[in-house]
Amino acid sequence: MRPQVLYTAFEPVTGLKGVGPRLASGIETLAGPRIVDLFWHLPTGLIDRRYAPKIAAAEAGRIATITLQVDRHIKPANKRLPYKILCSDDSGKLVLVFFHAHEDYLKKTLPEGEMRVVSGRVETFAKEIQITHPDHIGTLAEIDKLMSVEPVYPLTAGVSLKVLGKAMTGALGHVPELAEWQDPEFLKANKWQPWRDCLLATHSPQSLSDLEPTSKARLRLAYDELLANQLALSLMRLHMHKRAGRGIKGDGSLSKRVLEVIPFELTGSQQTSLAEITDDMASDTRMLRLLQGDVGSGKTVVAVLAMLAAVEAGTQAVLMAPTEILARQHLKTITPLAEAAGIEVVLLTGRDKGKKRDAILEGLKSGDTHLAIGTHALFQDDVEFADLGLAVIDEQHRFGVHQRLTLAAKGQGINVLVMTATPIPRTLMLTAYGDMDVSRLMDKPAGRQPIETTTVDLKRLGDVVGAVKRRIADGGRAYWVCPLIEESEVLDVAAAEDRHRALEQVFGDRVGLVHGRMKGLAKDKVMAAFAGGDIDVLVATTVIEVGVDVPEATVMVIEHAERFGLAQLHQLRGRIGRGSDKSNCLLLFQEPLTKTAKDRLATMRDTDDGFVIAEKDLQLRGAGELLGTRQSGLPEFRVADLEAHAGLLAAARDDAQLILNKDKDLETPRGKALRTLLYLFERDAAVRYLRSG
Ligand code: ADP
Ligand code: MG
Repeated sequence: MRPQVLYTAFEPVTGLKGVGPRLASGIETLAGPRIVDLFWHLPTGLIDRRYAPKIAAAEAGRIATITLQVDRHIKPANKRLPYKILCSDDSGKLVLVFFHAHEDYLKKTLPEGEMRVVSGRVETFAKEIQITHPDHIGTLAEIDKLMSVEPVYPLTAGVSLKVLGKAMTGALGHVPELAEWQDPEFLKANKWQPWRDCLLATHSPQSLSDLEPTSKARLRLAYDELLANQLALSLMRLHMHKRAGRGIKGDGSLSKRVLEVIPFELTGSQQTSLAEITDDMASDTRMLRLLQGDVGSGKTVVAVLAMLAAVEAGTQAVLMAPTEILARQHLKTITPLAEAAGIEVVLLTGRDKGKKRDAILEGLKSGDTHLAIGTHALFQDDVEFADLGLAVIDEQHRFGVHQRLTLAAKGQGINVLVMTATPIPRTLMLTAYGDMDVSRLMDKPAGRQPIETTTVDLKRLGDVVGAVKRRIADGGRAYWVCPLIEESEVLDVAAAEDRHRALEQVFGDRVGLVHGRMKGLAKDKVMAAFAGGDIDVLVATTVIEVGVDVPEATVMVIEHAERFGLAQLHQLRGRIGRGSDKSNCLLLFQEPLTKTAKDRLATMRDTDDGFVIAEKDLQLRGAGELLGTRQSGLPEFRVADLEAHAGLLAAARDDAQLILNKDKDLETPRGKALRTLLYLFERDAAVRYLRSG
């Protein structure tokens, strides 16, 4: 349960003075629905009102706070003209200008004959010194408040700075005093202030450097968040390990037969990874391991051999894919291998209904089925296993942590192997997986031809079609990926349909089309035709992005490549170069290119190392955007910026380790404070792993 000190912070913003439903919905878009969300809505700029010149010295264009005497109100002759108030000091005269003025209000706030302090942008107009609609008006006693530095926040329609500023002041009035969760020595060494002071300081920047992610206050807040993240991951991991306690050890009888039928030798890193995985499974702590390997590095066969080890030990194994196409692809690859081993594989996807589904579920429950492949349909509540020993999750970036946990609930101490083709940069790895064990496939299978990547102006489309034609005459097959248009799948599909029709003029019925709006069966049919060689050119939207394996495909054309992200381009390109023939990737672009787009295309041309590409991607897009992608399954941070704060991440990880080594259920005073930290950053799920959580 959330500690009481945080109750108010997690109340809706409508509880703040002056925040009604309309404004609340604006604030929700900007920051979130609760007061705590405003805490994390940090300023991105400032207005310095400390410039306080005499009227005659006031520089036009600058924000100034001026003390003056109100001399005379001049009501306009008609409503379209502004209301003017003549003012002065001992150096000169200044006119305050108001359009659509409310006379009563102005008479009250700026009474004739009195001294006032006003703050706003100074202008000169027809030799008059003016301030139009001053931002603030106050009495002499309020001068200190007026001569302040005002934070500027990101805004949205319907939420002005003034209105947000008021809500923010309200919200910041509710920042609680919290017991210190950081190590005092560490704080001292970094010269970091208490959390509350830092939060308030970030909201009242005094200079531009206070807005930098590297300012002391922001560093501390970022560190708090990273520590919460690492602590939560470590707790999850400890918990999963704790619940293990059974070694699953195969005898090699099944995998031996598979190794006999596959037409290749395992690469060095495939062998190493497999050994790491089977050792983990054989040990009495539960496995939680990531198998990371670039596209085409041969993760599937490693997974299959691991699954067979689980089956040899008398348990069941499942492989989960993020899409139906991929699940079927896996089934196709794995079926002959399972046959060689003499065991049966079943497929369970969302398409299976009624009697068919019941029969599959029955097999899993009774234990008659040893090996299953599927989509998230395998996660559903009514799917039970007799004895699930190993779960392999393919293409993890499409799943969230949540699914991983649901899966863990399917049995005691299930070993989990997560496969990812996305070469997640190290920094991001830590935040998403904590110190999860990692196996890496570094070397590509032998005999692979490198892929030659060329960038081509879309104007030369005719040449591209010609080149594809020649490659097909030589027995090759080609993917033709159509551009992303806005965020609309309908428009994507329309573009793909147009291209399909155009290519039909050239390739006749040897060209097929597959896109995200097609029904599963229709999609399968086209994919099968392409894999089987009944069609030579497959026009597609990005549905082919992940995992599809057609070794004969040696050409990848990507239209409007400038619109794709680096990771996506790399994934797409990974669809070719899987056989022993030379492959070509043609990136079609349309001028004019932005600098980033140019950089992206050049990177693609220069390297096919997934890790280099991932790091470059991080650099070009920034971690925020990388993490922002919904389906990434990576956590989003409120304050931490993985580019600027990458250095803090390793420290936070070590810190989390140290803390849990000494106080694994967070029961010491510092431990209790850390629990509050977890709640503050909404890592509530992790608290449930604590003994007395
Ligand atoms: P990914 O890591 O992208 O999932 P796959 O497992 O789909 O890669 O493997 C890509 C292709 O490489 C498959 O056709 C697979 O049969 C083949 N392959 C895997 N391991 C080897 C190897 N050691 N030598 C040659 N080919 C291999
Ligand atoms: Mg794969």
